[in-house]
Amino acid sequence: MSDFPSVERRGTLIIGNCQAGVQLASSLRELGDTDPIVLLGEEAHPPYQRPPLSKAFLKGEATAESLTFRTPDFYADHHIDIVTGEQIVHISRDARGGEAIAASGRIFGFARLALTVGASPRRIPLDGSDLGGVTYLRDLEDAAALERSLRTAKNVVVIGGGFIGLEVAAGARASGKTVTVLEAAPRLIGRAVSEATSEFYLRAHRRRGTTVVLDARVTRIAGANGSVTGVELGDGSIVPADLVLIGVGVVPRTELAEQLGLSIDNGIVVDSHARTSDGLTVAAGDCANMPNPSITDFGNGRVRLESVQNSVEQAKVAAATLLGLDAEHRTVPWFWSDQADLKLQIAGLSTGHDQVVLRGDPDSEKFSVLYYRDGEIIAADCINCPLDFITVRQALHTGQAIPAGLVTDTSVSLKKLLAAEPALERK
Ligand SMILES: Cc1cc2nc3c(=O)[nH]c(=O)nc-3n(C[C@H](O)[C@H](O)[C@H](O)COP(=O)(O)OP(=O)(O)OC[C@H]3O[C@@H](n4cnc5c(N)ncnc54)[C@H](O)[C@@H]3O)c2cc1C
Repeated sequence: MSDFPSVERRGTLIIGNCQAGVQLASSLRELGDTDPIVLLGEEAHPPYQRPPLSKAFLKGEATAESLTFRTPDFYADHHIDIVTGEQIVHISRDARGGEAIAASGRIFGFARLALTVGASPRRIPLDGSDLGGVTYLRDLEDAAALERSLRTAKNVVVIGGGFIGLEVAAGARASGKTVTVLEAAPRLIGRAVSEATSEFYLRAHRRRGTTVVLDARVTRIAGANGSVTGVELGDGSIVPADLVLIGVGVVPRTELAEQLGLSIDNGIVVDSHARTSDGLTVAAGDCANMPNPSITDFGNGRVRLESVQNSVEQAKVAAATLLGLDAEHRTVPWFWSDQADLKLQIAGLSTGHDQVVLRGDPDSEKFSVLYYRDGEIIAADCINCPLDFITVRQALHTGQAIPAGLVTDTSVSLKKLLAAEPALERK
């Protein structure tokens, strides 16, 4: 610590002022904390929501202003000091607190520290990825640039068939572009959903006119005069493109945690109280790798999730932990993705499922995929079926059963099956 000029070590410094950071600051106040709170981020904008960036924002149905979390009055009234445009590049701490130094040279002292630093897009070392018209999508600047390019683009290529890539592909296709999705794996959204759901999305995007290439091997991005003209595949063919979005996942931001000597394993390792390995600093959101009660028997029982709900719930726990209160992360994970007129809602984690049951007809574009392990429901992907989603989420929360043998009858609501279950058990 002696390397740094001394600054007052008071209050909480939250590094990362988006979903998890905003929730953490709000929760500290809700829990009665009256100490100073600095909610700091490197982006130029006040805290804003990311999910609309690949949805409403690209369609021109949301503006940067409409994405902001809370009003300036909220932060003022709650004495939360919002700092934008400051990137912390050096940090150190001991048991009494520490100092964080920004690239600008500003120093922020703290008694308590929270890392809600999120993740950044995974970059791929591909020839041509620096050409004009090749883009990633994580923040408002990316989205604004993408929205501008989409206005004139004719041929859009999306590298990566995950949620963000498919959301952008669906939006671009709906506005009349020629769209090609290149996915390296044998199926779409393979990390998050079962084959049944992947297969549905493959057909649904193709039905809407998007070309989807699976097992695609992208070898380079071709260009002329500094701008992209196409994407070359392993067989030498070129898919024409004047706009390329690379959406191949994210990498957790661990650089500050590394400086603090914290344990890192696919993100910042935290316990179920959001405490990092130093026992003092907390971490939450996309950057944090936390134990999850629903997967205790799998691997190390931990998972790093990238979702709004996860960021919010972990941040609440982290706030309580900073104040010495006992809180544990035990909520059921859930997630959503909007692709064209298809609303996917996922409840639970399907890790380790041994049975998949289809409820409804995928061709109707309104159905659910239910996942079971040892006869117990553990997760569901619900496509345009919000009631199924709500019911499965409730069942996972309360521990109520939804018998696999009965769910295929779509004339009976899952809610009715839930209610019937105790009677079935008594038989
Ligand atoms: C395009 C897009 C669409 C999405 N759609 C959905 C969806 O439909 N449903 C869903 O549940 N989730 C969705 N997500 C995911 C969701 O937005 C994230 O899970 C959530 O934003 C994570 O919040 P976070 O606070 O952990 O991290 P972030 O939102 O990444 O915020 C972290 C902040 O910390 C800042 N930061 C990092 N390091 C430093 C530093 N050293 N100094 C200062 N600041 C720093 C970063 O710049 C960033 O602003 C989407 C994400 C994207 C990008």
